[in-house]
Amino acid sequence: MAKWWVTDMQQQVIDECVQLHGGYGYMNEYLVCRMFTDSRVQRIYGGTNEIMKEVISRSL
Ligand SMILES: Cc1cc2nc3c(=O)[nH]c(=O)nc-3n(C[C@H](O)[C@H](O)[C@H](O)COP(=O)(O)OP(=O)(O)OC[C@H]3O[C@@H](n4cnc5c(N)ncnc54)[C@H](O)[C@@H]3O)c2cc1C
Repeated sequence: MAKWWVTDMQQQVIDECVQLHGGYGYMNEYLVCRMFTDSRVQRIYGGTNEIMKEVISRSL
């Protein structure tokens, strides 16, 4: 549950940060862009968030 919620929230937050930085947020030279790329994979590896929801649903 934590993995799904935290990584989804992380993506929402960093997406807002990229938006705030405008075009700079989309350039690899800037930390915020690299943070976006690094955070995006969190919803994929270690079990994708869709699979996390499947696992959670089994316990309900
Ligand atoms: C940088 C990186 C490092 C990794 N390191 C490791 C590692 O050290 N050890 C290791 O074992 N693995 C590692 N992996 C593999 C990782 O765990 C898998 O990529 C991950 O589990 C997703 O599997 P997949 O890539 O086969 O995607 P797929 O299973 O093909 O999924 C593709 C898409 O379909 C969705 N999907 C699949 N099945 C369902 C379903 N039943 N219901 C709804 N949606 C579904 C997924 O959520 C995803 O969005 C790594 C991956 C990356 C990108």
